[in-house]
Amino acid sequence: MTQAPDWYQAGMPHIWLPYAQMQTTLPPLPVKATQGTRIQLADGRILIDGIASWWTACHGYNHPVLLQALTEQAKLMPHVMFGGLVHEPALRLARRLADLLPGDLSHVFFSDSGSVAVEVAMKMAVQYWLNRGERGRNHFLSFRFGYHGDTFATMAVCDPDEGMHKHFSDVLMPQTIADLPRGEEGEAVFAKLLEIEAGKLAGIIVEPLVQGAGGMVFHDPSTLQILRRLADQHGLLLIFDEIFTGFGRTGSMFACEAAAVVPDIITLSKALTGGTLPLAATVASTRIFEAFLSEKDIHALMHGPTFMANALACAVANASLDLFASELRLEQVARIALWLEQGLAPCRNLPGVCDVRVKGAIGVVELDWIADLKGLKQALLAQHVWIRPFGRIVYLTPALTIEEEDLAGLCRAIATVLKQRD
Ligand code: PLP
Repeated sequence: MTQAPDWYQAGMPHIWLPYAQMQTTLPPLPVKATQGTRIQLADGRILIDGIASWWTACHGYNHPVLLQALTEQAKLMPHVMFGGLVHEPALRLARRLADLLPGDLSHVFFSDSGSVAVEVAMKMAVQYWLNRGERGRNHFLSFRFGYHGDTFATMAVCDPDEGMHKHFSDVLMPQTIADLPRGEEGEAVFAKLLEIEAGKLAGIIVEPLVQGAGGMVFHDPSTLQILRRLADQHGLLLIFDEIFTGFGRTGSMFACEAAAVVPDIITLSKALTGGTLPLAATVASTRIFEAFLSEKDIHALMHGPTFMANALACAVANASLDLFASELRLEQVARIALWLEQGLAPCRNLPGVCDVRVKGAIGVVELDWIADLKGLKQALLAQHVWIRPFGRIVYLTPALTIEEEDLAGLCRAIATVLKQRD
C-alpha cells in the first residue's frame, strides 16, 4: 500500500475491528468509494467485489434509484421515533413485505440489525407461550453450522462447537442443538429428539436452504418440509432466519418459497435496504400476533430499538423492492448460478479442494484445510478482487447485478490463487 491517508493514520489506533485479533490482523484497507461491483481503495486500486459487503448490496453499490430515495427522504424526515408515531415509508414497507411474504406472515416488527431481528423472533416465540399460559417453553432447537448473530441470545442458537462463539459456552443459555434432518433417516433421528425435548421448546430456528456464516452449508427444501411437519406435530413454532437468504440470494425472493413452507416467524435484514442502510424486520404470522392481543399490558411485546423503522432505511428498502420488479433481479440470479457453476468448475480438480457448490448467487469452494488464511487473503487481493475466506471456505456472494465478465474474473482469481498454494 502506498502512503495511507491522514485520516487512516490518525483513526486506526482507535478502531476495534470485527472478528479480528487486533494484534496480528492484516491492516484493513482504506476505501475511498464504491460503485456498482467495484471498491475503490484510497491508493487508487480498484477491486472487483465478490461479497457485496456481507451479501447486502444486492443491486451493486450506489444504485441511483436507492440514492434518490435516500436523498428525497432525507430532505423530508431522516428519522422520527416509532413509539407512538408512524410514517409512510415504514407503513408502505410493512404492507409490501406482508404482500411479498408467503402465507399470513404479515405482522412486521422493525429493528436495526439482523441479530436484533433474531432476538425479537426468539422473544416473540417465548412470549407467545407465556401469553397462552404455558410456562417452561423457553428453549430453542437450532442446528449445527447455524449462525444467527453475535448477541447473547443469538450466540446461544449458533453452532456451539464449530461456531465462533464457543468460548462463551459457560455463559450462554443452553439450547438444544441438532443435525439438520436430511432424508427419511434424518427425519427419524430428529423425530426421536423432539419426543424428548419438545416440552421445553418454544421453537425451532433455522436458516433455510443455506447456513451462511457458519460454513455455507446447503440443505434441500425437503429438510424444511420435515421441520414444518415435525414442528406441527409437536406444536412448536418454526422460525426461518432469512437474513442471509432473503431477497433473491438463493434464486427465489425468499428461500422458504423453494420448499413451499411457511414459517411462523421470519427474520429479514441485510439486502432489505439493498445494503445501503441498517434495517431489519421480524415478521410474524397472524396466529403469533394475535397471541399478544389482550386487555393486559403484560401481554404486549416489550421491545423497541431507538432507531427502529428509521425513515431513511424504510424509504430505501421500498426503492430496493421496486428494483426487484423493474430490473428483474431473480432472472439475474438464475444466470449468476450458471456462471458460478462454469467459473468455479476448474477449482474442483485442484488439490486441497474437497467441494465446490453453488446455490443461486452463492458460490462456495470448500478446502480440506486453510493453513495460512492471511496469505490466502493477500493472494486474492493481489488478483484485484475482494474475497474474504473464512474457516475452510472461500465463497462468492456477489451483487445480483454482476456482469458475466466480472464474475468470471472473481472465479479465475480463486482458481489462480488455489493453484499457487501447491
Ligand atoms: N442471521 C443470519 C443468517 C446472518 O447471516 C447474520 C449475519 O451474517 C445475522 C443473523 C446477524 O446479522 P447482523 O450482523 O446484522 O446482526
